[in-house]
Amino acid sequence: MRIYNTLSKTKEEFVPVEPGQVKIYACGPTVYNYFHVGNARTFLFFDIVRTYLTYKGYQVKYIQNLTDIDDKLIQQSIDEDLPVNVIAEKYIEGFFTDIEALGLRKADDYPRATEYIIEMIELIRKLEKEGFAYNVNGDVYFSVASFNGYGKLSGKNLEELKAGARVEENPDKKHHADFTLWKSAKPGEPSWDSPWGKGRPGWHTECVVMSQKLLGDSIDIHCGAVDLIFPHHENEIAQAEAITGRQFVKYWMHGGFLNISGEKMSKSLQNFFLTRDILQKYDAEALRFFFLSKHYRSTIDFSEELIKEADRAVKSLYQALNEVDYSAFKNEKVTIPEEMEEFRQKFENAMEDDFNTAKAIAVIFELAKLTKINFLKTRDNYKASAFLLVELGSILGFFSNLDEKLATNLNDLSGKLIDLLLSCRTRLKQEKNWQLADLIRDDLNELGIQIKDTAEGTIWRLNR
Ligand code: AMP
Ligand code: ZN
Repeated sequence: MRIYNTLSKTKEEFVPVEPGQVKIYACGPTVYNYFHVGNARTFLFFDIVRTYLTYKGYQVKYIQNLTDIDDKLIQQSIDEDLPVNVIAEKYIEGFFTDIEALGLRKADDYPRATEYIIEMIELIRKLEKEGFAYNVNGDVYFSVASFNGYGKLSGKNLEELKAGARVEENPDKKHHADFTLWKSAKPGEPSWDSPWGKGRPGWHTECVVMSQKLLGDSIDIHCGAVDLIFPHHENEIAQAEAITGRQFVKYWMHGGFLNISGEKMSKSLQNFFLTRDILQKYDAEALRFFFLSKHYRSTIDFSEELIKEADRAVKSLYQALNEVDYSAFKNEKVTIPEEMEEFRQKFENAMEDDFNTAKAIAVIFELAKLTKINFLKTRDNYKASAFLLVELGSILGFFSNLDEKLATNLNDLSGKLIDLLLSCRTRLKQEKNWQLADLIRDDLNELGIQIKDTAEGTIWRLNR
């Protein structure tokens, strides 16, 4: 299995730190608003990585944090005139509602930054004691020059960072790139007591502490979207490795942006669609398909047209299952014949080439086609291909409410077929072929479908 590692900028063979186990830390939402579809894309990419590794038999521990204290939450609390913790609760609840609607599988834990303040203070004290941090009037900074290796993730070097600095920015800092570990509180802001006075931890410290506390000093995968490479993840590495002297993360994975009209979708640019609003209009699996039909590292442009297309594509998978009457044999015990395992192999090869979900989806469509062909040719193994289709599709998160979806899809299809018959009947009447037109009406009646000719056309309803 090969994974693109931002640290080496190459696809590397995946070898977990401890055999058989995978520890994943994902940078979760800052809970000052409901999350937008750009965030949803990134959360979905985490979900796929975790689910696929679990399918491969690894014992996966997957943590996603909730950033429940920062400047944006404080601003939102002023805007909504609610305390910061109430803002956090409101949007954490919203986060869980929306990930469920999106069909994301739950992480093993969702630590909140405010639950780890003591541990954060502890880390900052250690950094200060060992000469990696300095205090200026209650604000504590990490000294980037003190850490050998600063810039290794983002490829930036200290000279370059200095050259880009504006002199007037912050005279307290020794180097422009020095970042805040502890921020002194302004009046009225939420704060905690610390050796440096009242204040709160910096965002980069929060993730290091939650990752180390819940997963240990060295983990396998740490992920987010590309905007987190610098400074967030670069600064996490500096703190963690300065303290432990060990590699913090083996594989750094970063997903591409969801853009809108060529710009990153973001709360600050106000060019976003909330996931919950999009899910009012489109099925969650359509959105999932829209994202997964592209590689996770590519940039995608938001397009409702493409989501509609994705919806049609997903429906065609359900339709294939309906056509072969999957519901009738779904509980049978069916073994997948040897020759069909080639599809699983293709699916796995795609996923193991840095999670190429676009290629994996193509395999699922091949299987849908094969299932229909096998069924039409009355080959027995149509059941096996349908089972494999559902198994592999489920890894990508499709077919979650299979029974319900199959029933609705069938209804959709029946409705369309009745409409089709009725338009044929209208043509027959125009051609004065009354006999055949009446036959269609009577046969539909026998099936429990009542039809009525009106001035606007023929309407139908089911007999109760
Ligand atoms: P935030 O709530 O801003 O902390 O972001 C949560 C996650 O969504 C982070 O991993 C971000 O990198 C990611 N993210 C933010 N904006 C986008 C976007 N437009 N496209 C994809 N991922 C994004
Ligand atoms: Zn983080």
